[in-house]
Amino acid sequence: MHIVPTQEEVVGLLKESGALREGHFEYPNGLHSDEYLQVALAMRHYEYAKLLSVGLSRLLRADHEIHPITRELSIVAPATGGLPVAYGVGEALHAKQVYWAEDEEGKGLHFRQFMEQHPGERVLLVDDILRTGRKLTELKKLVEAGGAEVVGLAVIVYQPTPATPDFGKLPFFYLAKLDAHYYRDAATCDLCKRGVPLQKVWI
Ligand SMILES: [Zn+2]
Repeated sequence: MHIVPTQEEVVGLLKESGALREGHFEYPNGLHSDEYLQVALAMRHYEYAKLLSVGLSRLLRADHEIHPITRELSIVAPATGGLPVAYGVGEALHAKQVYWAEDEEGKGLHFRQFMEQHPGERVLLVDDILRTGRKLTELKKLVEAGGAEVVGLAVIVYQPTPATPDFGKLPFFYLAKLDAHYYRDAATCDLCKRGVPLQKVWI
């Protein structure tokens, strides 16, 4: 394994741990796909969590804008799925703090009570995966509304869908990019046409 794991090494680890699955899947938004990734399955194993988050931290450390400010960074995750990555990256970078948002009871994305940003706080958004980008977009707005400055976005896996937003000039870091085939719905899905058994996924 390289000190920054290669695309092939990351994909191999995700497959071995059952996190990356091939088949025929339907997402809650109706998209069909031939591939499904649930990074939490890989993060069950501490050694994998460590290897992936430290690898990601090395990419961040190599960035000339992030490198000088690592110790003042707040590492912020949009949900609990990003926590193993956030703590791993936070530890490796000796970042100032790690915290996360939640989205329970339909209240919309929010922080725990008294968890406030301070003006000028530098935030690195971290998650296990960037797929639809919905939560990370919401999180960016949330921390900016609190007066913080988002300096980058880092994920283990970038798995864009046709609807994934572009974060513009925001520096973006990832260890692996997965290009799954997506179909808008069952009517346009080749796998449906071929009668491949379908599994619904929750997230
Ligand atoms: Zn289908």
